[in-house]
Amino acid sequence: MPLNEDPRTLEIAERLNAVHERIDTAVTAAGRPEKPKLIVVTKYFPAEDVTRLCQLGIRDVGENKDQEASAKAEEVSAALEQLGELSESPRWHFIGQLQSNKAKSVIQYAHSVHSVDRMSLVKALRKAAQRRAEERAENGHPACPDLDCLIQVDLRQDIPADGAGRGGASPSEIPGLAEAIEEAPGLQVRGLMAVAPLDEPAAPAFERLAGLSEQLRADHPGAGLLSAGMSGDLEEAVAAGATHLRIGRDVLGDRPYPR
Ligand SMILES: *Cc1c(COP(=O)(O)O)cnc(C)c1O
Repeated sequence: MPLNEDPRTLEIAERLNAVHERIDTAVTAAGRPEKPKLIVVTKYFPAEDVTRLCQLGIRDVGENKDQEASAKAEEVSAALEQLGELSESPRWHFIGQLQSNKAKSVIQYAHSVHSVDRMSLVKALRKAAQRRAEERAENGHPACPDLDCLIQVDLRQDIPADGAGRGGASPSEIPGLAEAIEEAPGLQVRGLMAVAPLDEPAAPAFERLAGLSEQLRADHPGAGLLSAGMSGDLEEAVAAGATHLRIGRDVLGDRPYPR
């Protein structure tokens, strides 16, 4: 079906326009010179929707489960090839909790991991990057770009001592993690990521995140990315200086219930 007649593509295009208008309004209100990048979160949505997004010019998509993401990445690149699409495969951003034993798989397709939250994961990603580099060299393939790593921060003001409900590293863990990523061949420390906590408004939490980002940048000038803002709080994230927004529902609609 031609692009301009597929009803789902039209629906997504309309929703995308509305989201871009929201972002533009927020950028103007914040007096920011640059518009943050939009990452469309495609978790639970089929590969076909990612292909549609590519046809609509989206270059960045986010996923939170390795199994789903790796299968989808393959399907999408096959579909785009078959369509003879000029659009390239998108960049895949991994934004969910990542088990260390999945590092080897994630590094095969991911452009970035936004959810680096502990030393053991840095080690696993480092090992995976090294192995990939060795395998590519053995097969005479050119080296891959480094994996962009963002440290996920737990923005709760009272983090339980046992780390219950942990959604990222505590702020005090950021410098050590950043150092470890920077020292790892094949990994680049690029910035911070966070989800607004449930027990307070997003604005003050994102302001704290912006402060942490400034501290990180003082030691790691290349780590200026700030991944914050979802469908419900993109305005607050733009005001706090987010460089990357992760938007799911507002672009694709309510998520299909996971099977
Ligand atoms: C699902 C998800 C999003 C997108 O949330 P929406 O409310 O659908 O916009 C953003 N970030 C993370 C980490 C997510 O898991």
